[in-house]
Amino acid sequence: MIDIHAHLTNEKFEGKLKKLNQELKKYKIKVICAGLNFEDNNNVLKICSKYETFFPALGFYPSIVEKEDWKNELKKVIEQIRKNNIVAISEVGIDYKINKKKEEQKIAFKKMIELAIELKLPLIMHSRWAVKRVINILSEYQKEIKEEKLIPIFHAFGGNEREVMEAWELGCYFSIPTSVEKIPQKQVLAELVPTNKLFLETDSPYMGLKERINTPLNILRSVIKIAEIKRIPAEKLIIEIEKNEKKIFKKIS
Ligand SMILES: [Zn+2]
Repeated sequence: MIDIHAHLTNEKFEGKLKKLNQELKKYKIKVICAGLNFEDNNNVLKICSKYETFFPALGFYPSIVEKEDWKNELKKVIEQIRKNNIVAISEVGIDYKINKKKEEQKIAFKKMIELAIELKLPLIMHSRWAVKRVINILSEYQKEIKEEKLIPIFHAFGGNEREVMEAWELGCYFSIPTSVEKIPQKQVLAELVPTNKLFLETDSPYMGLKERINTPLNILRSVIKIAEIKRIPAEKLIIEIEKNEKKIFKKIS
């Protein structure tokens, strides 16, 4: 099984990756490590070349547009993505909580969408306080999504029931975070998303439950909770999720 969204370059994991990699191996869990900017992307590449359970995804986090030279950084990140063998483009998207530079965020996000189509890479997206906006932008690529030339995956989707259905009708996938154990909105999401559109993620070390720091091992807890919500055996849910993983993340075996 794969944790499709984690930030293992975060300082909270400093000195802990070797042990984590060993534990992940034991449970046959793989991790897609998301990058936030040019420098973080480089760190992602470094740790992924060192540990066999980690796979790189490079991205351009929406807050970068706050920087004066964001266009230059965007150019550098695009080059970096083209040059390296990665399994997805992430973390990218729109965030209206962090900043209100709507036009700049849209320009950067669309560049990342077009790069994902060109390089045939899944796009793992952030959409905080901007679910509608992200759905609207994706609608411009309806044809590519239907033809599976663009694979958009919502990470930690915060939308309501209607927005889940809109994104699903468009052809989007969703990764369910570990907060599904406690947060009712995530439980509704897990219930609504059909198993053929579902992935697991932790967003480690973020989005943890109060009592501990989040790690990719926690996807095992999510499986139990989601299976309970969907009223299916956990074994069956695992088979379904692994089918999606094989289909979408072909480079991870
Ligand atoms: Zn993230």
